Amino acid sequence: MSEPALAVTDLSVRYGAAATALTGIDLMVPRGEIVTLLGPNGAGKSTLMRAVSGLLHVHGGVITSGRVELLGSDVTSDRPAARVRRGLAQALEGRQVFPDLTVAENLAAGGHVRRYRKAQAREALERALSHLPRLHDLMDRKAGYLSGGEQQMLAIGRALMSQPTVLLLDEPSLGLAPKIVETVRDIILDIRDEGTSILLVEQNAAMALSIAQHGYVLESGRIVRSGAAADLRDDDEIAALYLGVS
Ligand code: ATP
Repeated sequence: MSEPALAVTDLSVRYGAAATALTGIDLMVPRGEIVTLLGPNGAGKSTLMRAVSGLLHVHGGVITSGRVELLGSDVTSDRPAARVRRGLAQALEGRQVFPDLTVAENLAAGGHVRRYRKAQAREALERALSHLPRLHDLMDRKAGYLSGGEQQMLAIGRALMSQPTVLLLDEPSLGLAPKIVETVRDIILDIRDEGTSILLVEQNAAMALSIAQHGYVLESGRIVRSGAAADLRDDDEIAALYLGVS
């Protein structure tokens, strides 16, 4: 069997001297699958994403044990740009696009780390837009004038511009109307169908568990549950806590 797209092993993280944010995290994203990470506010979801993307130090965090492997290579000490070149990209929440830049400029920024030649940049753009056709007609629009859903699509498009093998999605449905959430859900499936492996952090557990193969539940910095998404969906405790069912 080929190695997983992403493997996190015995990972512990702390901020400053006192606060331990993650303890002994083991998590795996198999190739070509969607894996979701659920958990309440403050559980450590963003911290785990930062440890994977390499942006932990920007927030004052340090890895105190464990490792992060991308496609079988240990990247625990690699800079964020080196991880992007190895095939990792993160789509931040939609409001973090550059508001004063156009859609085209935002997308171009997403390919920057790859140092594409012209033809490569054009190909990356075509591939990204094939998943996000709505952006086609908005290329000259300033990102700040887009709707919430369009900004979310742009955030995903920007990440796709580096042609990732592993895509980290941070709350892609946050603040979106149900119909737009459905569109974003279909876009995520479409990206997965092309072969990209996805780690999806979501508040919307129902949506996440409906498209993921596997899920992890994080509480107070520890994985407290993991399993097939279908099993988590049918679990009464998970339903009560995360699916709004009682
Ligand atoms: P949310 O959904 O609210 O963003 P989360 O699950 O992403 O929550 P984190 O933001 O990773 O959780 O936070 C995990 C823990 O680490 C919390 O106790 C939080 O207060 C702490 N923490 C997060 N960022 C920092 C930081 N930059 N400095 C110090 N502590 C932090």
